Amino acid sequence: MDLSQFPPLNTPTRILLGPGPSTADPRILRAMATPLLGHLDPAFLQLMDRIQDLLRFTFETQNPFTLAVPGTGMAAMETAVANLVEPGDTVLVCSSGFFSLRIAEIARRNGGQVSVLQRPWGEVFTAEEVQAALEQTPAQIVGIVQAETSTGVLQPLDEIARVVHAQGGLLIADAVTSLGGVPVRVDAVGIDACYSCSQKCLGCPPGASPITFSPRAVEKINARSAPPPDWYLDAALLSRYWGSERAYHHTAPITMMYALYEGLRIAAEEGLEARFARHRQNAALLYGGLEALGLSLFVPAAIRLPSLTTVRIPAGVDDLTVRKRLLSEYNIEIGGGLGDLKGKIWRVGLMGFSSRPEYVVMLLGALQKLI
Ligand SMILES: *Cc1c(COP(=O)(O)O)cnc(C)c1O
Repeated sequence: MDLSQFPPLNTPTRILLGPGPSTADPRILRAMATPLLGHLDPAFLQLMDRIQDLLRFTFETQNPFTLAVPGTGMAAMETAVANLVEPGDTVLVCSSGFFSLRIAEIARRNGGQVSVLQRPWGEVFTAEEVQAALEQTPAQIVGIVQAETSTGVLQPLDEIARVVHAQGGLLIADAVTSLGGVPVRVDAVGIDACYSCSQKCLGCPPGASPITFSPRAVEKINARSAPPPDWYLDAALLSRYWGSERAYHHTAPITMMYALYEGLRIAAEEGLEARFARHRQNAALLYGGLEALGLSLFVPAAIRLPSLTTVRIPAGVDDLTVRKRLLSEYNIEIGGGLGDLKGKIWRVGLMGFSSRPEYVVMLLGALQKLI
């Protein structure tokens, strides 16, 4: 075989300021060089226990059912929805962005009767309108995205959780772009199923995704008349592996568990409040710099998501040209718009390790040259 067609892996070193993955913390990459353990090795099982404890700390929950599913954020979304939604169940999805539509689609595929409460992209829902929607069409399960990565909006959940519970429903919240960067506070808010991923605000590579179910959610799962069609993401089987039985279900992605462990440790070492403050401060630095360049932010200040900023592409500036040059000349990745926002906005992620003032300043300097 002619190996000249297959050179050694030698990728450019990028600064990842897009919607994910974020730049991985070098400490995490070093942890990933740790030699493998077997997935039932006592030393690995102990690591799983510690990961569960650190996940509870990070989610701010006491939920016994708290673990990391193998796969990316979508696997965790699918775990939440596929286990909670049984055929015939009524589901309300609050949708004002790209990712909520996926919750609705997965709920439909699992036989849910889905209604969608729609708002224009970039807006938030009030508890009153969710209540009105539930009074009109009651739902056993409500799905909502806390941190909408397609728009850069942070959806407040406290009041909505109260309304959903008052109607006897369960709340699924997508915290893929918030966990580890923005408060999620699962127990204080009252989220029944909350999931995230490793490669956004936790600063790890993609591949292991945190999820937690409240005791009420677990009750609903235990009362299912049939297990979910998704065998790999069956919560009951997952919990038998993560729980005291240690029943083989899948081979845990060992290296990703090392990464997640180190990522969660780093978050705990920094302290959640300090970490949230850092995300807010670097976002504020970015807002000021973008505005000083004459750019306008897409989302009003009150509902901005610190981990992901959306900014309007100025008239006369070509989206792709700027992003290509940012990458080739400055090694900086940012994201373009999704759906109707394609070509209209850029998405800048300041997540986890990527949330640092020097990266903000580099991006602003590069943008100044390019627009
Ligand atoms: C990134 C993202 C997902 C999907 O996660 P993957 O890791 O890409 O599978 C789901 N929801 C939101 C809000 C996201 O930002």
